[in-house]
Amino acid sequence: MLDAVAPCNGAPNGLATGIRSSTAQTLVIAHARLPPTTRSKPRFLGYSISVHATRRSAHRRRRDSLHNLLIVHFRLNRVFVALDRDGTLIEYVPYLVDPEGIRVNTRAALAVRKLNELSIPVVVITNQPVIARGLASRETVDEIHVQISAELAKFDAFIHGYFVCPHSADGVCDCRKPKPGLVVQAGTSLGIAPSTCVIIGDSWRDIQLARALGVPGLHVQTGPERTHDGGEKSFPDVRSAVDYLIETIV
Ligand SMILES: [Zn+2]
Repeated sequence: MLDAVAPCNGAPNGLATGIRSSTAQTLVIAHARLPPTTRSKPRFLGYSISVHATRRSAHRRRRDSLHNLLIVHFRLNRVFVALDRDGTLIEYVPYLVDPEGIRVNTRAALAVRKLNELSIPVVVITNQPVIARGLASRETVDEIHVQISAELAKFDAFIHGYFVCPHSADGVCDCRKPKPGLVVQAGTSLGIAPSTCVIIGDSWRDIQLARALGVPGLHVQTGPERTHDGGEKSFPDVRSAVDYLIETIV
C-alpha cells in the first residue's frame, strides 16, 4: 500500500521512469483515444486482425493498438486510474484550505468503489498552488486528503495514493499538470507504467496531460469547465466515465 500522501519530489521529466522498455516502445506509437462506444467489444483471446485491417486508416490502427494493449493491461491489473481532485472527486471550491469544506461527489465515490472491486488502482493527482501561495501548509493539504479518504470509506471506496504539485503557475517544476510528473510519481509508486494509466478530470489540464502521455483522457462535467476543447470523450460525472471505461476496455 502506498503512503497516504506521496511527496512532490521532483521526479524527472518525461516517461522514462518506471517504464519497461518494450512496453514503452510499443505504447509510444499507440494513440491516446479510446474507441467509440459503438464499436463491438473484442474478445481478449479471440481478438485478431481483420482482413479489412489494411483498409483502415493509420489513425484507426493506432487506436486499435492502444485498445488491445489496454485490454491486456487491464486483465493483468497493470492499469491505473488517475483522478483529478477538485471538481472531479470532490466538489469544486476555489482554493480549498478547510477540511470541513470537503464535499465528496457521490458518483465519483461509487466509481472509485467500482474500480476497487476490479482491483484497478486509483490515485489522485492534484495541483495545489495554495501551498506555494502560503494559503495552506502541506500538512493542511495532507489533512484534507485524510478527510477525503474518510468520506470515501463511507462508500467502501479507497484511494491508493495522493500525488500533489505544491508549486505555483509561476514556478518551475515538472509536476504541475499538464506536466507529467505526478503521473510518473504515481506509476513509479504503483510499479505500473505511467503510459498505461487512464486520466479522468474536469480541466483542460487533465486532458492535455493525457494527450502528452498518449493515454486515454476522459473529461467530466462536474467542475467549472463544463466544455472541453474537442476530440476527447466527455461525461456527466466520474461514474459515467468509469462505466464507459469498463464497457469498452475491461
Ligand atoms: Zn509542481
